[in-house]
Amino acid sequence: MTLAEQLIIGGERRPAIDGATSAVLDPSTGARLAEVARAGAADVDVALAVASAAFADGAGTWPRTPADERGRVLARVAAMLSERAEAFAVAEAGNAGHPISDARWEVGRAADTFAYYAGAADKHLGQVVPVADPGLDVVLREPVGVAALIVPWNFPLLIASWKLAPALACGNPVVLKPASPTPLTALMLGDLLVEAGVPASCVSVLPGPGSVVGEALVSDGRVAKIGFTGETATGAAILASSAPNIARVSLELGGKSAAVVFADADLDRAVAGLPMAVFGNAGQDCCARSRVLVEQSTYDDVVDRFAAATAAVRVGDPLDEATEMGPMISAAQRQRALDYLDIGVEEGARIVVGGAGAPTDGFHLTPAVLAGVDNAMRVAREEIFGPVACVIPFADEADAVRIANDSAYGLSGSVWTGDAGRAVRMAKALRTGTLSVNSNRSVRIGAPFGGMKRSGLGRELGMAAMDHYTEVKNVFFSSE
Ligand code: NAP
Repeated sequence: MTLAEQLIIGGERRPAIDGATSAVLDPSTGARLAEVARAGAADVDVALAVASAAFADGAGTWPRTPADERGRVLARVAAMLSERAEAFAVAEAGNAGHPISDARWEVGRAADTFAYYAGAADKHLGQVVPVADPGLDVVLREPVGVAALIVPWNFPLLIASWKLAPALACGNPVVLKPASPTPLTALMLGDLLVEAGVPASCVSVLPGPGSVVGEALVSDGRVAKIGFTGETATGAAILASSAPNIARVSLELGGKSAAVVFADADLDRAVAGLPMAVFGNAGQDCCARSRVLVEQSTYDDVVDRFAAATAAVRVGDPLDEATEMGPMISAAQRQRALDYLDIGVEEGARIVVGGAGAPTDGFHLTPAVLAGVDNAMRVAREEIFGPVACVIPFADEADAVRIANDSAYGLSGSVWTGDAGRAVRMAKALRTGTLSVNSNRSVRIGAPFGGMKRSGLGRELGMAAMDHYTEVKNVFFSSE
């Protein structure tokens, strides 16, 4: 095994204690890309011992390092990520199957995230509270403790940065668990953090099965804070496992978001944006607008144009600069999408375009549009997490609100309309954590991001994330 494929515990590369390894695949070919050490419960135990000692230690340690100095270290992380952007992008494209142009964009946004929290480190202020008692009442913000950060495979580097940057800015030791299919950029980033000046004792990266490594982390009383992104069912299991320890938990979970297209919208713009709003990252995006709600009067026209735009999406090799959609992460994930297409057809929907198989080797699937979908169908209710769009007609504004909100999820969404009043009414009526009007963009680093209902608990990004990674302490100084 090469050094680059080992675990990181306390900033150092080492093999798993039991010597176990796992193969990591290139989803565009199905071939083995790397052999990576597979952590077990014993490795979690060592990593948590190192991290909790780093938190408990006295002066000069990361939790007690002045916030502006922590910010300077994170600014170095941002600069080094930018310098090494191409290496990270190529690794992400190879391991996660992202088109290289997307992977470059993601590395840039990961660097931006570290730059944002570099600036935020000394701007998360306490308070002075006016109280009746003679004296001074102050609210302090302190690091929360060891943070276990568990991330999915769909945006491995980007989502890791959303958690690592605020956790470190607030002074917490971190233990990062990447998803089993995509550990490579997480390990590269772990090395980079230490090189940039984050104390080695505060950085561990543990690839390994969620049922072993993830479960050992979230049920361990030494973990004060759990930051998780993944499926809703996994989030629920984490809440249960961490409950006895009253760990702080934030969850970014699944979605079934709606793009609502009114007949009064700029339809050229709306239709041009629809394909990548759901087929970006091969539909493996929690914010995918996988339900496309279209006003009845323009339904047939939009379906035809959406289908034509979908047929033009360039599916292929992630390292080809022209590719717009790469492979899915695994054969199992592609089969899941194909099964849902069958389910949709059995339920009465029709495949207008796509879903017909792979144009290349690997786990590719051509993007598919299902028309004639009713919101009660399973394809409209369950998260497919693949390149499948369900187009659903609606009668009027009230009907659009009813259908859009009739979902267990509430993560993201878009409204396309030319009527400013309608845009305001829709923005107020929709039950979703993030909404874009006449846009498909869901995430802005400075703005809170997260879901309502079963899409999550808490908000990431912006200054909201700094609250997750700090404890509040109230101190009263008597002047009597
Ligand atoms: P997942 O199966 O829930 O896995 C996510 C992470 O949790 C992985 O690292 C996984 O490890 C680990 N894990 C699995 N079981 C665990 C357990 N019992 N305890 C602790 N950790 C455990 O999700 P995924 O399939 O990787 O990602 C797709 C899902 O993520 C979709 O539902 C998507 O909507 C959601 N997502 C949400 C957001 C958001 O911001 N709301 C963003 C991206 C993705 P293994 O890989 O080893 O199983």
